[in-house]
Amino acid sequence: MKVNSPDGSIQLVTGVGPQRARLLSRLGITAIRDALLYLPFRYEDRSHLKAFHELLPGTVETVAGTVVACNAARRRGRGVSVLEVILHDGAGYLKIKWFNQSFLQKSIAMGKTMVVSGMVKKNTRDMPPLEMDNPEYEFLADDADSLIHTGRVVPVYRVTGGISQKQFRKLMFALVKEHASGMEDPLPQEIIARHELPGLAESIRELHFPGSAEDITELNSGRSRHHRRLAFDELFYFTLGLAVLKRRGFRESGIAFRPKGTLKSDFLKLLPFTLTEAQKQVMEQISTDMSEPHPMNRLVQGDVGCGKTVVAFAAMMDAVESGYQAALMAPTEILAEQHYLNMHRMIDKLGLAVELRTGGGGSRNNGHAGEGTADIVIGTHALIQEKITFRRLGLVVIDEQHKFGVMQRGLLRKKGLAPDVLVMTATPIPRSLALTLYGDLDCSVIQELPPGREPVITSWVDSGKKEEIYALLQQEIGQGRQAYVVYPAIEESETSELRSAVQGKEAFERKFPEYRIGLLHGRMKPGERELVMDRFKRGEIDLLVSTTVIEVGVDVPNATVMLVVHAERFGLSQLHQLRGRVGRGTDSARCLLIAYEPVGEDARRRLDVMVRTNDGFMIAEEDLGIRGPGEFFGTRQAGMPDLRNADLRRDAVILAAARQEAFDLISRDGELRKYPFLKHQLDVFWKGRADLFKTG
Ligand code: ADP
Ligand code: MG
Repeated sequence: MKVNSPDGSIQLVTGVGPQRARLLSRLGITAIRDALLYLPFRYEDRSHLKAFHELLPGTVETVAGTVVACNAARRRGRGVSVLEVILHDGAGYLKIKWFNQSFLQKSIAMGKTMVVSGMVKKNTRDMPPLEMDNPEYEFLADDADSLIHTGRVVPVYRVTGGISQKQFRKLMFALVKEHASGMEDPLPQEIIARHELPGLAESIRELHFPGSAEDITELNSGRSRHHRRLAFDELFYFTLGLAVLKRRGFRESGIAFRPKGTLKSDFLKLLPFTLTEAQKQVMEQISTDMSEPHPMNRLVQGDVGCGKTVVAFAAMMDAVESGYQAALMAPTEILAEQHYLNMHRMIDKLGLAVELRTGGGGSRNNGHAGEGTADIVIGTHALIQEKITFRRLGLVVIDEQHKFGVMQRGLLRKKGLAPDVLVMTATPIPRSLALTLYGDLDCSVIQELPPGREPVITSWVDSGKKEEIYALLQQEIGQGRQAYVVYPAIEESETSELRSAVQGKEAFERKFPEYRIGLLHGRMKPGERELVMDRFKRGEIDLLVSTTVIEVGVDVPNATVMLVVHAERFGLSQLHQLRGRVGRGTDSARCLLIAYEPVGEDARRRLDVMVRTNDGFMIAEEDLGIRGPGEFFGTRQAGMPDLRNADLRRDAVILAAARQEAFDLISRDGELRKYPFLKHQLDVFWKGRADLFKTG
């Protein structure tokens, strides 16, 4: 590697020592390339700074001037200190006031030139006629400075403590000058041509220090052609990685299952209902996948309560009948335990061996199984973390995929004989995004809910409306139904004001001594938890007081009431999941979202959406809007590379184009033999996430 190539460490740059390198690494900048791709988050037009006498009160402006007066900071009433400075621009004067920033005094001196940016106000007390309060400011030291920090469209970066805007901008200026032209363009030329993309070096230069031809409004919206070029790159690397993973799956040889189908049909006969058309269709797709001699990689999407579990169980029957083991991985212990209980109730009748493996609880089985010999193993991520050996793992089902990612899938796959993988998620995702996130998977959707389901009626109630809440409980429990109450915390603590499950249970016991009330939370021993869940399922508990451990998957059709305490504290998809615990039978169900003041703006939006709709897709869209894609998908945890310059919503069109190109390219040249530099960049982009070109 050349010392001054963009791949070099940022520490090789003049003026960046170990300390500054540490600061920069907080921004995700370790190589020179990272810095070049670290874009300004906005731009300020300082290309024609107004003269002071042209300024209008009530507008936000950026101007430059020399300090001609500076009053020592004074204290004024209630401990507020005011620092006053007068700037001169050669013709007029402008007064600047800084409140409670007396530390500034040290750096402000007569004769220094400053750029200030802020709201222009009338100065009613004295002269000069105009002032700015608490403007953003920069000092200019010499002429060279003025070319970087003013007299042009100036980039504004998100910086971190210890490095000022101006220092950062100066560093970027030097880097762009020195290294931008050294940024070799990894994109294949024909792709660049097809999409009329600007060159990489040009885009980097223009995005950091735009020339006079660039439109500042476009730059500030993040939609300039140069922004689109960098977004394209990121989305291209992203989907190219997924294409590589997917191709690897096709080429690997896997198990061609050949079940007779008796076990599956015996299993289906045990169900108290008939399958919906949507369920049958998806089962058919899965059977086809499983019969092929390549590992299956299928995602099943379907809103909460649509009946994904039986679909998965049926696939497991086929695997077992073909002489393999099947594993089911759930995101929480509660859910794993519940799957285990369901499974084991039915499976006993079919004579199969089931084993439960969770982190804390060790293992349990239904008496037929020993280490590694069960037909079906159910567990949490402990399944991939512990040294569990499988005898003949053939099928892996991952429930509620949004909590797992590509990496975990890979790990589990390594434990077996290139097993088939079935991933199930209730997080409905707009299709274009699903393609991206799960781009290496095939997708099935269960669109239909089982017959007779009614939408859950949801209300947002103020925490003061206790009687309304109690009345609903009395009405439903009086008719033999059951209810959940969910709290954000297990126990009350001195550091938090939140209502908690333990105290909540006591309060309900005082209010309703005649009810059978149960408690469930994550700090209980798995055995105790299982007992409580089992009693709730059997109808021996009327009111289950719980934390969010019941968020996913828990299934008790007789429960018709869901109370969420401190609903303002929960995320949207979490609320939707919680609500999904009721309305699972044919009785109409109610969900009360109990909110405590103050309810912030985002919380209001979340509660509004919940009251307005039961549609998981709409809720997912809203959630994406409120939280942004990074957090929505939890991509960090899920082992996906970060998207820094692309925005999955804003750049949906670019995403589709980049994805098409990526998959086409991999189908032409799967090993990227003709594109060694692109291949190298792809590895850099996915570094630490997945070894794309190594088969595990
Ligand atoms: P999810 O898709 O959220 O995982 P589940 O698989 O837990 O949903 O199913 C929700 C409930 O619907 C369960 O009680 C299940 O037994 C029931 N169910 C599943 N399929 C059907 C069907 N075809 N008809 C009636 N009830 C069904
Ligand atoms: Mg489920």
